[in-house]
Amino acid sequence: MNTILILIGKIIVAVLRLFKRNAGNLPGIVLWHLTRGKCCKMFKINCPIIAITGTNGKSSVTSCIAQLFEQNGKKIIINREGNNLDTGFCSLLLRYCTLGGKVDADYVVFETDESYVPVIYSQLKLDTLVVLNFFRDQLDRNGEMETLIQKINGFCKSFEGNLILNGDDPNTARLGRANPNNKNVKYFHAKPYAFATDTIFEASEGRFCPFCGETLEYDYYQYSHIGKFICKKCGFGNHEPYITAENIDLEKSVFTADGHEYSPKINSIYNIYNMTAVAATAKLYDIPQKVTHNVISNHIINNGRMETFMLGDRKTTLNLAKNPVGANMTLRVMNEMQTDKELLFVLNDKLADGIDVSWIWDINFSEFDRVHKVVTSGIRAYDIAVRIKYAGYPADKIIVCPDLDEAVAELAKTEGRKFVIANYTAVAPTRSALIKYAENHGGKNE
Ligand SMILES: [Zn+2]
Repeated sequence: MNTILILIGKIIVAVLRLFKRNAGNLPGIVLWHLTRGKCCKMFKINCPIIAITGTNGKSSVTSCIAQLFEQNGKKIIINREGNNLDTGFCSLLLRYCTLGGKVDADYVVFETDESYVPVIYSQLKLDTLVVLNFFRDQLDRNGEMETLIQKINGFCKSFEGNLILNGDDPNTARLGRANPNNKNVKYFHAKPYAFATDTIFEASEGRFCPFCGETLEYDYYQYSHIGKFICKKCGFGNHEPYITAENIDLEKSVFTADGHEYSPKINSIYNIYNMTAVAATAKLYDIPQKVTHNVISNHIINNGRMETFMLGDRKTTLNLAKNPVGANMTLRVMNEMQTDKELLFVLNDKLADGIDVSWIWDINFSEFDRVHKVVTSGIRAYDIAVRIKYAGYPADKIIVCPDLDEAVAELAKTEGRKFVIANYTAVAPTRSALIKYAENHGGKNE
């Protein structure tokens, strides 16, 4: 039966390829129905599976972890196209398995949607789960964040593999207590960077101890609710670090971890956390230091996540923001830059974005330092303009351009450093508009 199912799947993959269609999800969906939801169970994977999950940073960390193994000469399977549900996993494995379902690789590295962790890894043996952070995201699809954490926590209760957790995120670190018998829980941390604060910068979750309800006390906040926390009542937060990022200097773009210095190409505190998760994984799998250094120092992103463009001679950073934390990240990087700036915010409300755009009211627009103009665009250009106006930003400096080409031209008019925030379905058209402008007026996609 298994062989027949796999054969059917492989035929679908082959046919889709024949017509030059991406076999991202469809073969998996067909098999999902034929197996009554157990499509991952058909495969026999004898190598370690490493799953990466969390609200922000999954793609970056997945790609870097895959490179650790790849550059160390190992054969890996990874879902580069970001199909991170069970059906996507199934479609991917169909390309690599034998008719008996045997998958041949040294490591499988899989970016996994948060809510699918229990679904997929109840069917396949997981070696390591890396959890980066939990923030409010796409409420329409996932329901409340607490429900999501509970789902993964339920999985962790019986999981005895390696658990690499962000020890500075209480939402994530709590998973380390799910299974007291699991001796393979490892926390990564980061020492405060120059812009760490005593008080919280933005509205967020995770302020109370999940075990006793006491208010968590923080030594410092790095961003949102990420920082050094402790519950004075029950001791939650008092865990031994496996690896810690130290000497973080974003001006020079350097940090150290376990005595090794890294110079990442992306200098943001978010990237430091992501790369510390990568370093933790490298340590766990005994990756040679040279390889780890190479991967962390050369990691760049070309998918609208902190991507750089030149509009003429004006440097422009584009960042995807699916949720308030993502948007606040860009605003923080922008505020930290001591120069004149302009911002373009592109907001859509298509199905994939979550049609409810109320999350924009949780973005912290209150500290706009030397931002001389805000341009808004996208389907909900007016909503985001109203939001920014209500944060106290002068209305006469907000320019609404629903047409993206016009919006980019408006942004490029003035001299300052440019920042562009776009939500999920807005990223691709925004990238295209930036590239088009650069082609017609000089400049490039760096
Ligand atoms: Zn407590």
